[in-house]
Amino acid sequence: MDDSPIGFVYLVGAGPGDPGLATAKALECIRRADCLVYDRLVGERLLGHARPDAERVYVGKQSSRHTLRQEEINRLLVEKARAGKVVCRLKGGDPYVFGRGGEEAQALREAGLPFEVVPGITSAIAVPAYAGIPVTHRGVASSFAVVTGHEDPGKTESSIRWEHLSTGADTLIFLMGVENLPYIVGQLQAHGRGPETPVALVRWGTTPAQETLVGTLADIVLRVRESGFGSPAVTVVGDVVRLRESLRWFDTRPLFGKRILVTRARDQASELVAQLEALGAEAVEFPVIRTAPLEWEEPVGGYDWLLFTSVNGVGCFFDRLRALGRDVRAIGNARLGAIGPATAAALEARGLRVDFVPEQFVAEKVLEHFPEDPAGKRILIPRAREAREVLPQRLSERGAAVRALPVYETLPDTEAAGDIRRRLTEGSVDAVTFTSSSTVRNLVDAVGADALAGVTVACIGPITADTARELGLAVTFVAEEHTIPGLVRALVRHCSSER
Ligand code: SAH
Repeated sequence: MDDSPIGFVYLVGAGPGDPGLATAKALECIRRADCLVYDRLVGERLLGHARPDAERVYVGKQSSRHTLRQEEINRLLVEKARAGKVVCRLKGGDPYVFGRGGEEAQALREAGLPFEVVPGITSAIAVPAYAGIPVTHRGVASSFAVVTGHEDPGKTESSIRWEHLSTGADTLIFLMGVENLPYIVGQLQAHGRGPETPVALVRWGTTPAQETLVGTLADIVLRVRESGFGSPAVTVVGDVVRLRESLRWFDTRPLFGKRILVTRARDQASELVAQLEALGAEAVEFPVIRTAPLEWEEPVGGYDWLLFTSVNGVGCFFDRLRALGRDVRAIGNARLGAIGPATAAALEARGLRVDFVPEQFVAEKVLEHFPEDPAGKRILIPRAREAREVLPQRLSERGAAVRALPVYETLPDTEAAGDIRRRLTEGSVDAVTFTSSSTVRNLVDAVGADALAGVTVACIGPITADTARELGLAVTFVAEEHTIPGLVRALVRHCSSER
């Protein structure tokens, strides 16, 4: 009996570009796969969900060498599945909309290999939607057709029946059509579409690089030529294009088109990145520091207070306790303080009630609002090895017995430095955000202060800003409220005043 393992292939639609438009099932397939076979328009972000040990095969094809390569891709899928692998074949948009997914499915069927199809959100509909264009609209368009624009104009007989298509659907959506636009426009006009018919081209739709060009059948070819508009783009023809004027939303968000460098430790960047992206910015993540947990043994019981200064400190403290075979009961009846709402949330998530949350990480403010007289109190502060001494010092001066416990250290992560320096000096970054003095020091160490000369420098608070100035940076503004949301609000204000 043949007991060789049988693999499985998922033909998965990755959506049009915005990683949030991948389906729950697509993510599950990416996470489970032994092997990912992916195309050009599949975003890096999605691939980040793959297992670290999963094999990744890029088969992005240039349109000129289409046909040859497809057979190779089919063979590759068959080969991997025969070797017993769970294969995730990731395609942009939907796998069966000009994705040649059908051919891959046929190859698998012929080889007797099992597969499933996970439909995706096609760019044909999603990209117009992100440009503010509904493909149907009551009273304007009651049908749409999705058409390939890739057809060879030299072909003697077109497989597109232009005489039926041109006026057969109210909205026409062309994929892969930029190069052939003059031919498409010519065919549509030759078959009954008036020159005043609105046309929109949307490039890099659903991503921070999205761009839209609007015209009519009469002038769109000239407009494309003049602006140098290129692929990948979706072309929409029909009266629905006019709705964009009132229904735009994606490219009107306050930070749309802004590229913002986020300098935080890798494990902490997500909150700032999520907020910036929700407002339309493209966050360039530079993990200039990374944090590494430290090993410590000392007892943590018998304190009156535990003061946590960061989310990371909370994580490292409780992870280490666990590694030592202990748990939260080791801290006894200590009351809990957390600097900032995110740190408080990290404690609350562990089922702990936080007694004291000063909004600002400025020693004076912490002391001012401390709920009781610190004199005689035993206070433990789990924190970074490199943390500033001010808070423990001030508490000691007021008579507390303070122990600062280093639970993690921050280390420079300079791998990405060269790339970031290039992007900064060529002017493709609009602003840099600093959320602590160490992020300033590490970025300046990594790329040099000169690389930051022409860039907006945004600081979370006065201490961070002082460090930036000491290192030769021109600070553009300091957030009024020294929190991530405060920093984001200050950025929005700055960008809207620039506009
Ligand atoms: N299966 C894909 C389409 C593959 S054909 C889908 O369902 O979306 C590739 C063409 O899709 C490109 O030439 C372009 O016309 C279009 N396309 C895909 N993603 C796009 C995007 N983010 N922005 C604009 N056009 C896109």
